[in-house]
Amino acid sequence: MIRQLQRLIWAAVSLLMFAVCAQAQTGLSALAQLDPARTTITGNAERTQISIGLSQPIPFKAYLLDNPPRLVVDFRELDFGNANPKDFLGQGGVAALRWGPFQPGWSRLVAELPGPVTITQAVQLTQDQPQIRIDLATADPADFMPRAGAAHSALHNLPQPAQTDPSATRQDGSRPLRIVLDPGHGGLDPGAEAAGTSEAVLVLTFARDLKEALTRAGNEVVMTRSENVFVPLETRMTVARASGADLFLSLHADALESGIATGATVYLFDGNASDAASQKLAERHDRADLLAGVDLEGQGDRVAHVLMDLARAETQPRTVRLSQVMAGAIRSAGIKMHKHPVQGANFSVLRSPDIPSLLIELGFMSSKADRDRLLDADWRKQMAQAIVAGVQAWAQGDAAEARLLRQ
Ligand SMILES: [Zn+2]
Repeated sequence: MIRQLQRLIWAAVSLLMFAVCAQAQTGLSALAQLDPARTTITGNAERTQISIGLSQPIPFKAYLLDNPPRLVVDFRELDFGNANPKDFLGQGGVAALRWGPFQPGWSRLVAELPGPVTITQAVQLTQDQPQIRIDLATADPADFMPRAGAAHSALHNLPQPAQTDPSATRQDGSRPLRIVLDPGHGGLDPGAEAAGTSEAVLVLTFARDLKEALTRAGNEVVMTRSENVFVPLETRMTVARASGADLFLSLHADALESGIATGATVYLFDGNASDAASQKLAERHDRADLLAGVDLEGQGDRVAHVLMDLARAETQPRTVRLSQVMAGAIRSAGIKMHKHPVQGANFSVLRSPDIPSLLIELGFMSSKADRDRLLDADWRKQMAQAIVAGVQAWAQGDAAEARLLRQ
């Protein structure tokens, strides 16, 4: 048991490397720029050539991943500017394309493929007009070699983090509350998009407001991202663990296809949640990780899951109270809530077994009224104050219980 716990902690510590790097730098100071005029996808269903025009040569690595089959290209600091990847689709066998900042100092392109391929060529022309050229050819499933080269990708070249001691004790009111704020999505995962804006940008703006309000109220706040960069779901939880968080709040404003969803919603983890709409949201969040090229291998350790379930059983009543108090505070502030203001959902980011965690949908990007509210600085201020009130009310009751249990 102890050894399994140690493994869990080590897995967490090793994941911290992304977080530390993400916080050590502020933003990308891109050296190379994409040249959209010299960027093309050509070919047919069997053979595809992807040409990426660059302002200057840069280190890069191309490799394949499976489920779904996709090509991943990691670049050292490439600024894609305002070019929209959708504009480059049409010819060749690329079903979908996305790109953007991945980790500070690293950018990534992910091309979804209709089936197995081989990389027949991946070269960089460095004279005159620098360009990366990648040739793909359809292949038999037997010849498909996912992850070839992935071990040397950007993720594995990051420096080792400083080790942290996550020996947090349950908060009892004797020290400031540590809150981890998690603005959803970011970088090459924009989240929901509508009317020229993205969920990733809106929730980051809100998170900054909320951080200020929480700090003013005497809390300690850590952000899982403070820039528009991609952060894998696991890393978001690792940041919470490494900071010894008392509380984890993930902030989103997703879109629902039905288009009728409106108002703020508070979600807590429920592995058995069966509501179709929230199931779809959960799948979309996980899929964003997958499509961003995160290697999800080795996350299915059954023993670890049993341990996590045991720890979660202790935390769950605290999380349930948090969800109710939070929804009550938002409603008391006169803010419009969804007709089911508290819901359970199978969101991966809420799986920390020992940290009360909520995902707050501030509103839905698919609703114009919600979008307008999110863009309104006064509304954001009001919502931030409501969340501060919810946190403070919960923390008082939770601290009282902790003191009682200790007697
Ligand atoms: Zn979201």
